[in-house]
Amino acid sequence: MMELQNLIGGEMMNSESGNWLENVEPATGKIFSRIPRSGAADVEAAVQAARKAFPGWSSTPFEERAACLRRLGALIATHSEALIAAESQDNGKPVSLARAVDIPRAQKNLEFFAGAIEHFASEVHIPGGSEFIHYTHRKPIGVVGCISPWNLPLYLFTWKIAPALAAGNCVVAKPSEVTPVTAWMLSEWIAEAGFPSGAFNVIHGLGGEAGRALVEHPLVKAISFTGGTQTGAEITRTTAGMFKKLSLELGGKNPAIVFADCDLEKAVATTIRSSFANQGQICLCSSRVLIEDSLYETFRDALVNKAKRIRPGDPSDPTTKMGALVSAEHRDKVLGYIKSAVGQGATVLCGGGAAPAPNDRCKSGYFVQPTILEGLGPECNINQEEIFGPVITLQRFFSETEAIALANDSVYGLAATIWTENLSKAHRVAGLVESGIAWINCWLVRDLRTPFGGVKSSGVGREGGFEALRFFTEPQSVCVPTN
Ligand code: NAD
Repeated sequence: MMELQNLIGGEMMNSESGNWLENVEPATGKIFSRIPRSGAADVEAAVQAARKAFPGWSSTPFEERAACLRRLGALIATHSEALIAAESQDNGKPVSLARAVDIPRAQKNLEFFAGAIEHFASEVHIPGGSEFIHYTHRKPIGVVGCISPWNLPLYLFTWKIAPALAAGNCVVAKPSEVTPVTAWMLSEWIAEAGFPSGAFNVIHGLGGEAGRALVEHPLVKAISFTGGTQTGAEITRTTAGMFKKLSLELGGKNPAIVFADCDLEKAVATTIRSSFANQGQICLCSSRVLIEDSLYETFRDALVNKAKRIRPGDPSDPTTKMGALVSAEHRDKVLGYIKSAVGQGATVLCGGGAAPAPNDRCKSGYFVQPTILEGLGPECNINQEEIFGPVITLQRFFSETEAIALANDSVYGLAATIWTENLSKAHRVAGLVESGIAWINCWLVRDLRTPFGGVKSSGVGREGGFEALRFFTEPQSVCVPTN
């Protein structure tokens, strides 16, 4: 059985307690690896290693920091086949998705922030008629914590550590205990990429133990977190009064707003993807599809027809488009929501339960059918709570105003998609929807320079581009006479 280790101060090591957590392959339900069950002592060692490395790393020329990131990106490319297989095995996602999205994007994240730090500049204010100039010195913060979820494991892990390291911070990172493997693989290549010992540390373990110890450590001055809204709230409570910088990327209940004047074929095809990609386990997935009355039946039937053709398969099969849900617990949560919807009077248009195992190897895997529900009002829990699985609901609207009201009838505000060929309506609706991201006639198109994040209970702060570098630096205003 594969045994993962923490990376602390340049050394791969077990947890101080010697305790382990089992790691399960979602497609088979079998334990295939174990990870250190780290606690406060391990976090303490990692934070001290990071603190020791900070003066050296933060004063390393930015070109050299960028070169380390690029070398790590190149190592991801070299090992991409192993990473693709590992991500699929650990998460249940199809290898085709890990190949097309997760692993190339992880490499891109490192390269992108290597480039970003080379172009990062700060402000100078030279007031006319004044004998003083003011410049903003953006300094690395020190030791920072990066905590990532299981749905896009290496993708989101690198999305955090890359800007943190580029800006000159030393990092203690905690990947999800549910999908720890690719972060562990990456930690094996850190020295080869040229990072000095202690600049980058990885701690494995449970959120409530290792994660919490990292969040409450007084020397960790900033926490970049992606995960559930409840965990985000807990991190906010834990750090109350500690004055840490927090970046919180949380859950969503994203609307897809389909107007009658949309390009039907494109809207249906993309809504299938935005609903069911990664088994619906992307924070940006559409989960509430709002359809204008005059197109409702046509759109619904076309969507259901396509969804019925998706068969969850063995994630290791290169032809599989939908894999397994990440854990038995998560599968049960998703199935519980479907049952509750039916209990509340929802009509199941397709799916509605566990999917049959695609083969003998996967007979104990966690497969759920793509499920489309209709007939429930906006107030019902199925339309309010994040399900985070291959389950969407359809709702009908009669006017633009009603569409916007339905879209905004949520505590969440992460992403929205808007389908219409009317350009001014598209811009108007995008402006009125309460979300951090709005996609018009497309979905999941990302430019890494743009701000990424949510409003309302979907988060605080923005990642991406210079926003991330600003988060991972502390601005100091310096004032100096001109003569
Ligand atoms: P989670 O909140 O359970 O866990 C996320 C990470 O936080 C894990 O590493 C976990 O170990 C750690 N953690 C848990 N409790 C902690 C605590 N008390 N203190 C510190 N760390 C703790 O989330 P998850 O189930 O892994 O991921 C799914 C959630 O993530 C969904 O809600 C999804 O919408 C959200 N998500 C959001 C974004 C975004 O960009 N907004 C992206 C991906 C996923």
